[in-house]
Amino acid sequence: IKKKGKGYTTIACKVERAGVLGAGIMGGGIAYTSAVRGVPVVMKDIAQGALDLGIGEARRLLAKQVTQGRIGQSRADAVLSSIEPTLEFNGFDSVDVVVEAIVENLNVKKSVLADVERRVQPSTVIATNTSSLSVAELGTALVRPENFVGMHFFNPVAAMPLVEVIKGPKTCDEAAARIAGYAMAMGKTPVVVKDCPGFLVNRILTTQFVSFVTLLRDGADFRRIDQVMEDFGWPMGPAYLQDVIGMDTSNHVIEVITAGYGDRMKIGFRHAVAVMAEQKRYGQKSGAGFYRYE
Ligand code: NAD
Repeated sequence: IKKKGKGYTTIACKVERAGVLGAGIMGGGIAYTSAVRGVPVVMKDIAQGALDLGIGEARRLLAKQVTQGRIGQSRADAVLSSIEPTLEFNGFDSVDVVVEAIVENLNVKKSVLADVERRVQPSTVIATNTSSLSVAELGTALVRPENFVGMHFFNPVAAMPLVEVIKGPKTCDEAAARIAGYAMAMGKTPVVVKDCPGFLVNRILTTQFVSFVTLLRDGADFRRIDQVMEDFGWPMGPAYLQDVIGMDTSNHVIEVITAGYGDRMKIGFRHAVAVMAEQKRYGQKSGAGFYRYE
């Protein structure tokens, strides 16, 4: 999308085939959403178990679509077979975009991004789904930072309509446009935002998070808060949301954002989510968080 006077004009940026790095909560969801919208995916992880879980999640979501009568079984089978799992970089030399959704660790991401850049075409746009790391900093690992951009999905990917497209200082308009176009092809609404801690949506959510953990410290019952916010109209309450995101991920993002804005977003006490993260009580993925999961 290029600026033209006061409006915008769309430039050609079709994505025919995508690569996804990481088959976890986000990578699995991104691969499924891309494939179901007609863009085949090659999905790489370092663990066979993770690939199996990612494919299993896609299979579960497709079975739900079939049960609901939205697609037929043969279409579901075709979509599933358009997600190609790999432990190597098989097929990455023919993708138009790569979406990186591996562990939220700066050095690991930098080394994996540099590695994948050597295995794709020079024109391939590489995107990161980071929630909290700087796109500018991650881009320093790359030879072609102009082709690097943030593509921040929300959890669960298949259900959440917004995607933040984060331009780093060297990201070119064409790369951002291709990623915005890919988001639209996936049925999402892209919003181009600046590269700052929390980008846009997580900055807003953090203020709610601070109110939530402050209420808990004041003695409120998290189940009651969840119930009231669901009655208010939220699809889920703040405690359940933490269980879905994962206490480790959430706590890390909160730390980055609160540190990034100093007094403007200070939490001056040890809060429940940090304590649970320390105790490895991560939420749904570990079987217990605010709630217990069988
Ligand atoms: P996750 O732990 O569920 O999955 C990460 C996956 O990456 C694992 O399967 C792991 O095996 C794999 N992996 C690790 N190193 C790898 C490598 N070198 N190559 C390929 N795969 C590798 O994590 P997640 O929650 O899916 O988060 C992934 C990214 O998405 C993080 O950057 C996170 O900040 C971001 N994110 C998470 C959420 C959320 O709600 N969980 C929301 C938005 C963005």
